[in-house]
Amino acid sequence: MSSILIKDAYVITGNDLQDSYVCGWVLVIDSKVAAHASGAVPHELLASAERVLEGKGILVMPGFVNSHTHLSQTFVRGRADGLNLLEALREVIWPIQSAMTAEDVRLASLLGLVENLRSGVTSVIEHNKIPYPASSLDHVAESAVQVGMRMCLVRGWADLGEGAERIETIIDSAARLYERCRAGSDLVSMGFGPMAPWRCSENSIRTLVRWARDRGLPTHMHVAETQQEVRAHKRRTGLRPIEWLYSLDALGPDVQLVHCVWVTDHELDLIARSGATVIHCPVSNMYLAAGIAPVYKMLERNISVKLGTDGQATNNSQNVLETLKCAVLLARTRAKNPRVLPTQKALTMINGEHLAPPNTPSGIAVGSRADLTLVDLSAARNLAIDDPASSLVHNHAGALPHTVIVNGKIVLDAGKVVGLDEVALIRECSSAAQQLFRRAGITTRASNPGLSGNERPVVSAL
Ligand SMILES: [Zn+2]
Repeated sequence: MSSILIKDAYVITGNDLQDSYVCGWVLVIDSKVAAHASGAVPHELLASAERVLEGKGILVMPGFVNSHTHLSQTFVRGRADGLNLLEALREVIWPIQSAMTAEDVRLASLLGLVENLRSGVTSVIEHNKIPYPASSLDHVAESAVQVGMRMCLVRGWADLGEGAERIETIIDSAARLYERCRAGSDLVSMGFGPMAPWRCSENSIRTLVRWARDRGLPTHMHVAETQQEVRAHKRRTGLRPIEWLYSLDALGPDVQLVHCVWVTDHELDLIARSGATVIHCPVSNMYLAAGIAPVYKMLERNISVKLGTDGQATNNSQNVLETLKCAVLLARTRAKNPRVLPTQKALTMINGEHLAPPNTPSGIAVGSRADLTLVDLSAARNLAIDDPASSLVHNHAGALPHTVIVNGKIVLDAGKVVGLDEVALIRECSSAAQQLFRRAGITTRASNPGLSGNERPVVSAL
């Protein structure tokens, strides 16, 4: 039996994040939260805990969740500056991904996860569609286990346009991943879903959403990210994307809709009626100048909204706290109302209630999964704060994820990644990225013979 005791910390507990202790403690035994309370730690716990973490200046919260990313884009960081979505896909993302080896996928996944971990993330939803053998999915899953983070690995698919696959091929691959996840580590679960409606036929949506539903898997997809794609989709089907999905019985509580920037009030009503979750990626939307999602209208309809960074290609970062601040400010700006998305509500957008297994309490509660993020708020730029939660939301530059616990194990220990040699990983990734760009025919600064070897870190890791 292992135990970790965090003492004298500012603790935000509960699924709604409404309860907090200015000075409190949390006890983790094995993979679960065993107890928590305000005030001083009982002596007997202090004496018996295997590991005691000092919490002065530290905020303890349920682990952050990055609800949408593409780890295979880690090496694409900075390559799509100044491009819109279609340009980024055609000129950068697809050519680079087509040249990636299975080893590149493994390294990119590890590095992307480390960046998430350093942002305080305990769980990611990885939307994965890459043109390799099915075994590359194994590498992605294994990278989560190696770093010690949770991952919902979404097998992405498309049956129209670039990278189209036959429905039978998609099902064979998904069935393989499904069996792998059932037999493998508790840290990795499976999701399923199209890359986006504009890349799918009516038949594939009907067939494959049902396939996922029959197995209790979430369906996860990009929707209505750009005005251009919505127009094209309507030309093809006669319906806007959310209307089309609704007509195909492809909305429901098991469905996660990423982006939803260009949605009408009627479409928002359909999302609310279905119980689907929206995954909002504000930094990616701004990076591509795709638009501003009407988050305040979603909240008015009690639609569950979670946050994702999206992949490196359309963000350059995996910083979920930066995403959180942008989400809050954009929602208030679009609503022209500073009371939209208050701090406590905003924090629920990075919690893991949508990923918790049935009948398992989420948040910090007795019996909840011990996925905790400890943030150091003692830096100079955060001193004299009155409300640590507000500081976390609005001053992410001063909030340093310090220690991260996943499934009762410390995976980031006072700033040190536990599961791997980070320096060696960065070195390997830099070398692999250079070779990848050469294979893809992408010009890099490192191609400039005037640069010395030491000046060639095209992949800036952290
Ligand atoms: Zn995405």
